[in-house]
Amino acid sequence: MNRTEASELVGGLTSTSKMPCASYSIPAQACKTGKKLVGIKGSVCHGCYALKGFYQFPQGKKARDNRLSSLYNIKWVEAMVTLIKPRKDSAYFRWHDSGDVQGIIHLSNIMEVARLTPNCDHWIPTRENAFLKAYVESGKIIPKNMYVRVSALMRDGKPPKKFVDKLNKYDNVEGFIGTSTIHHKKEAIGSGCIAYNQDGECRDCRTCWTTEENISYPFHTKRKALL
Ligand code: SF4
Repeated sequence: MNRTEASELVGGLTSTSKMPCASYSIPAQACKTGKKLVGIKGSVCHGCYALKGFYQFPQGKKARDNRLSSLYNIKWVEAMVTLIKPRKDSAYFRWHDSGDVQGIIHLSNIMEVARLTPNCDHWIPTRENAFLKAYVESGKIIPKNMYVRVSALMRDGKPPKKFVDKLNKYDNVEGFIGTSTIHHKKEAIGSGCIAYNQDGECRDCRTCWTTEENISYPFHTKRKALL
């Protein structure tokens, strides 16, 4: 499979211009937990950036819809690896600047892409705790180059540390399962994201891929596509 074929098959990758690497997005409207949270005032999904602004431009919407409909194509893993591996910025990859894990098969395929791109560090934020738990408990591997961050569900909420601590005890978790929060009226817990002090850009920061501390992103109604 060449890169053109791969791109057509998965709907291409995403470039946010804020991140130091390529990313990948599917429609936020398809988020299973997010769909419930978005209507709850004070939740981390309330006012979701991916449901408004430039995320609603027709071209981008169509691309995310195409990606969603391609998720269970038998060649999806091969196509994603074909797109990620040769990139100049392939030392890092960020999953889901919009959207979230759709199920166990989807999560398994993402982990397989990470396993097949061992020179790339992958970061995936998620609110889909049940899928992650089922995946880990089934004995499937979280590769050593994968950094999963489970988000607190409410702004100023505590990191779901107990939940991730239990999962990190499994031998099949070779990578790392960490946490993230959004602070609004309280101080950041752990490591505060610095992008908002540098024009919404990561620049040299790679904390989301490296730290075992909780990462806290400041709440802002005009947050850019980082968390
Ligand atoms: S902590 Fe913020 S600036 Fe640093 S890598 Fe994560 S999103 Fe980017």
